[in-house]
Amino acid sequence: MTDTTSTDRDTARVHAALDALLAAHDPATTDRVAFRGARYDAGLAWVHFPEGFGGLGLRPELNRVVESRLRKAGAAPGDPTTFFMALAGPTIVTHGTDEQKRRFLRPMFTGEERWCQLFSEPGAGSDFAGLACKAVLDGEEWTVNGQKVWNTLAHLGDWGMLVTRTDPEAPKHKGMTYFAVDMHSPGVEVRPLRQITGEAEFNEVYLTDARIPDANRIGAVGEGWRVALTTLMNERTAIGGSGGTTSVPRGGPAAELVKIWNGLDPTERTPVRRDHLMRFWIKGEISRLTNTRASQNMKAGNPGPEGSVSKLVAAELNKALYEFAVELQGMSGQVGFDYTFRRAEELSVDGSGRGVGYAFLRVRANSIEGGTSEIMRNILGEQMLGLPGEPRIDKDQPWSKVPR
Ligand SMILES: Cc1cc2nc3c(=O)[nH]c(=O)nc-3n(C[C@H](O)[C@H](O)[C@H](O)COP(=O)(O)OP(=O)(O)OC[C@H]3O[C@@H](n4cnc5c(N)ncnc54)[C@H](O)[C@@H]3O)c2cc1C
Repeated sequence: MTDTTSTDRDTARVHAALDALLAAHDPATTDRVAFRGARYDAGLAWVHFPEGFGGLGLRPELNRVVESRLRKAGAAPGDPTTFFMALAGPTIVTHGTDEQKRRFLRPMFTGEERWCQLFSEPGAGSDFAGLACKAVLDGEEWTVNGQKVWNTLAHLGDWGMLVTRTDPEAPKHKGMTYFAVDMHSPGVEVRPLRQITGEAEFNEVYLTDARIPDANRIGAVGEGWRVALTTLMNERTAIGGSGGTTSVPRGGPAAELVKIWNGLDPTERTPVRRDHLMRFWIKGEISRLTNTRASQNMKAGNPGPEGSVSKLVAAELNKALYEFAVELQGMSGQVGFDYTFRRAEELSVDGSGRGVGYAFLRVRANSIEGGTSEIMRNILGEQMLGLPGEPRIDKDQPWSKVPR
């Protein structure tokens, strides 16, 4: 049963903290980093985080109240290159030591330190638990050797969320360990990988005798899978939030579709096309509400398997929506696209704000990144519908004995 009194008290507390923050710092005139630092100190970075670590220990849905009031007061939207904060923040607050929380959370939130995700490998994507990047303890430090791949914005990253194999003799899920790796340390090399959009938004990352202090291990040795699940669940909700969005200020996919529609010659606005447009709009709204519900259901601040529903819906919807957008534009939708090679300096997972040609190509990746649509369907089938699991013959074997 909901305790409305405490709910109202919590909301009032958030508003009081916002009043104090806005009275002391005008977001429209305060430097972005300084404002975000003050916001963190006021417990309004992630309200569901503990007090002293950017939060107030309140329900996660109150983050929306904070975001909406600050935007109305003129605060800048989050910097897209800090996307991985949505993954690394909850992971560190859930599994990190107090010292790690103190070290990492504030500069992550202000954007002074950007993060990237070093999970996938050439031989471990969907089967991420099969990864081979090796870490060996040597005194107070770990020596890491291996290759990671598809690492979005790793070229801008200061810190990487790195998962390694520390016990090859344990079954695959049990011999992994999670670290924060300094992307500027010797032995960490980032190389660009060009995408269908022309730009290199992601990279391959080579780790050659890279050294990581044991103090930067997140969670216990051998607990890397459990820690990584927190990252992955939050990633799915972060990507899921893009599904067809109808009203984000810079114009989400459905909003862009309506803009194209309004620019069409009236003879091109046929009833059949209007019907398609409305269906996309409605699905965008359903996706948004599903994602809202997923974040409201978060227990202890981390989303459950329902995050996979919004991720799956968002991916498939964004792809279909931009296909329709290109069709609406006719021949003009297929020309004038800049395919020159360039290093990405920002991130737009749903492609919005960068033109339909770019978005059409970018959202192709939505059903791969953060877990493929097939894997999302497996998770839904097994964890939400209770269907029989896939056969997993290597689950209990030592990782070193599994053929690869
Ligand atoms: C744009 C983009 C950005 C990315 N950013 C990052 C990043 O920042 N950090 C990072 O670590 N990784 C990143 N990735 C990698 C991403 O997580 C992987 O590509 C994804 O998990 C799939 O792995 P894979 O590419 O090895 O494909 P595979 O796992 O080899 O899959 C190939 C095909 O087989 C299917 N398949 C595999 N297993 C099953 C199964 N059990 N049941 C049904 N079908 C199955 C898949 O659905 C897919 O269609 C990114 C990928 C993209 C495209």
